[in-house]
Amino acid sequence: MPASAEQYIHDLCERLMDPVFAGFIDAPASTRKEILDYGDAHAAQWGYSLDSESLSRFRGVLENRHALAEYYQEEIAAPLRRAALSHLGEDAEPVRNIPVGLLPLLTFDACAGIAPSGEKFIALDFGLGMCCTFLMELFGKLRTWGSDWAHDPGHSAEEYAAGIASLAYFSVTGSRDALLVALRLHDPAATHAKGYAASGLVARTWVLLHEYQHILLGHLDHAEVAHLDLSADEQIPIMSYQHSLEMAADRAALLTFISHARASLSAYSFVESLGPLLRFMRLREVVRSLLRPAPPHPSHPGAEERWRAALAVFVAEFPETEGLADWSCGLLDGSFDAIEKDVRTQLYRSQTGG
Ligand SMILES: [Zn+2]
Repeated sequence: MPASAEQYIHDLCERLMDPVFAGFIDAPASTRKEILDYGDAHAAQWGYSLDSESLSRFRGVLENRHALAEYYQEEIAAPLRRAALSHLGEDAEPVRNIPVGLLPLLTFDACAGIAPSGEKFIALDFGLGMCCTFLMELFGKLRTWGSDWAHDPGHSAEEYAAGIASLAYFSVTGSRDALLVALRLHDPAATHAKGYAASGLVARTWVLLHEYQHILLGHLDHAEVAHLDLSADEQIPIMSYQHSLEMAADRAALLTFISHARASLSAYSFVESLGPLLRFMRLREVVRSLLRPAPPHPSHPGAEERWRAALAVFVAEFPETEGLADWSCGLLDGSFDAIEKDVRTQLYRSQTGG
């Protein structure tokens, strides 16, 4: 009898850990130490508060792939699932029992798949999720740099921009060096750490809500089965949707968020979380397209279009915030346009050897 979807995703996660571990074990001692130290800040990255026992567990699991796979599912995927289900409230019933797992891959962000048992599951990848809170931190520091309310004037605006570019590079390629460039700008004790964590959680919850909405809106009946390459000789079947259904899932995910958080959601928190996420996704598209031409996910629309559509939904729901949204978006677009140009130039140079 095939394993349950829950067991399947756990086993898959554990098996896919091998290259992660190979990279870690082979790394020089100083890099290993830097990565382990980074583990101490890991809880804040994901927006959960872990006590010292959980933190020492995290340090322990980095030495053991079975424990790390368990850690991914219990400490990262499960709380995110709880957050998304609580946003859906009573509407969550049809998706409540669908397993949500985290895989150590960098290729697909999120998707619904079919386990060998025939059951559905939702898989999230490590790349985007791991970057979310850190991205919010770097963007917050870049955006406020040089102002009276600077989050951290300790580095230059160019360094923060380069940090975001490195993060995009890491989330597409898994490059440890790119991650370490970005990590050096990270301050786990930052004054705004709680705000960054909250924005990161908004962004990641929205990604999962998008997958839930595909199911709740009945999109599975219209989906095509595509294949996600796990390695040269292994694929998993995943759902691929038409463009209009993708945009409908985005819209419904955002409306779920707005209706849940109407009292506390402001233009500020919206533009501070989904804005950087979607512009970051666009940056990753640029990195991907320059490194390898084929799109990794069969159906998600371009991030630029998704961002504009999300903004239109938001302004329609909160007309009074239009001015602020425009102003914040101007800053956001200006920053990311500059970073994107820089990434294109850098990658072009590195490819042409110039
Ligand atoms: Zn989708």
